[in-house]
Amino acid sequence: MKVDSGLYRQLPAVDELVRDPALGELVSEHGQTAVTDACRVVLSRLREEISAGDLEAGKLPLALLGVAEAVRNELRRSLGYSLRPVINATGVILHTNLGRAPLAEKTLDHIRETAGAYSNLEFNLETGDRGKRDVHVDRLFRKLLSDEDGELRSAGRARAPVPTQADSTQADSTRAEISTIVVNNNAAAVLLALNTLAEGGEVIVSRGELVEIGGSFRIPDVMAKSGAVLREVGTTNRTRISDYERAINERTKLLLKVHRSNFEITGFTEQPPIRELVALAGKHKLPLMEDLGSGALFDLRSVGINDEPGVLDSLRSGVHVVTYSGDKLLGGPQAGLISGREDLVQKMRSNSLFRALRVDKLTYAALEATLLAYLKRDYDSVPALRMMALTKAEITQRAEALALHCEPPKLKVELIDGESLVGGGSAPSAVLPTTLLAITASDLSANELAARLRASDPPVIARVEEGRVVLDLRTVWIEQDKLLTQLLVRAAAL
Ligand SMILES: *Cc1c(COP(=O)(O)O)cnc(C)c1O
Repeated sequence: MKVDSGLYRQLPAVDELVRDPALGELVSEHGQTAVTDACRVVLSRLREEISAGDLEAGKLPLALLGVAEAVRNELRRSLGYSLRPVINATGVILHTNLGRAPLAEKTLDHIRETAGAYSNLEFNLETGDRGKRDVHVDRLFRKLLSDEDGELRSAGRARAPVPTQADSTQADSTRAEISTIVVNNNAAAVLLALNTLAEGGEVIVSRGELVEIGGSFRIPDVMAKSGAVLREVGTTNRTRISDYERAINERTKLLLKVHRSNFEITGFTEQPPIRELVALAGKHKLPLMEDLGSGALFDLRSVGINDEPGVLDSLRSGVHVVTYSGDKLLGGPQAGLISGREDLVQKMRSNSLFRALRVDKLTYAALEATLLAYLKRDYDSVPALRMMALTKAEITQRAEALALHCEPPKLKVELIDGESLVGGGSAPSAVLPTTLLAITASDLSANELAARLRASDPPVIARVEEGRVVLDLRTVWIEQDKLLTQLLVRAAAL
């Protein structure tokens, strides 16, 4: 193909284009350098189009007229954020791909206030000496985890009070102080705990608990990296306390229980109850650790979720160390929490790995504010907890209002019963009853409509089920209902 080389000469030079008055506003807004870069990209694209024969002589003037607009778009693309807020209409409250727990307003304020300035992160204001970054949250964890009267556990939601399970018969008055340290995430917490308590020795785990979480966290791998040797006992569906006992030998350093977060072995299964493990650990003077994963600090029974052990349940029953995530049921920032007997946690704090896994001031600020909400029993201010407590009736009412505003000819909306998922690798059976909007748009497949919703601004993430787009308002902020309606109508009308 013969390319008319004269066409190239009609293109302006980069600095000529930058000086174009039409771009003046962009230069003052984004700066000379960014605009120059954008001009270079746009011009080289035009050059490519010419050499590919896509821009013949007749079409070039038109392309040149649109050059300012092309530069503007290029700037928007290159200088815009890649990480953006989305509307989560999936009904999965702790959606790992969508960033898990959204943070409370006060949490954001505290991050802003302390991270935008210098702070006393590691500075003791009384003595003027160096301080420890843990103190800011350890004091709050101590209060929350020494909740002697069990009030916290039963205070989940006033509208659905439930009796506490751990009554005084279980209270262990001789229990040592509980201390808590913070690392980057729960995977790091497990790594640090195993390395500190069991490096060079054996750790006994039930074969049925060797889980893979989120496709990237596998206990056997973390165990290997920690320098501890995994000793699997039992079978995938059945492990008895005698299996643990038989495996104990002089190399044994730790008994580990892993919460089976995101899968459920149904049918005939058996794991020894926690009190048997506590008794066995006591008999052999071995520490017992539980990787809780989600680690709720409020009573999940208050929102109708049973069988999900909370941090307090576990510590109260005598487990020495528990590990859990900050951004799952706690509703805070990404973090790994290790709570347990003071002497064991102190050893982990002295481990050099702790320094490598430590978190920064943003995380401490976010955790501190989230924990304060718990101390004040202000559960409604924590978005993940608020969403969990929403009743089906509240969601139905909002769904009906939304359906009313969708025009019948283009959109067909039906309300159906469904389930929201707590998600985030918490109890696999943890679902909450909800009302879903099942939507079909004329001339559009469900996948096409879902794709258009994702392409809207802000993007809307929905589920597709049985040929329909399905929206669950549980995970949508109530203030966004109107916007969601508009985006839906627009997506169907495009
Ligand atoms: C989620 C989970 C982890 C990993 O936690 P991250 O905070 O994502 O690192 C580990 N163990 C269990 C049981 C979990 O549920």
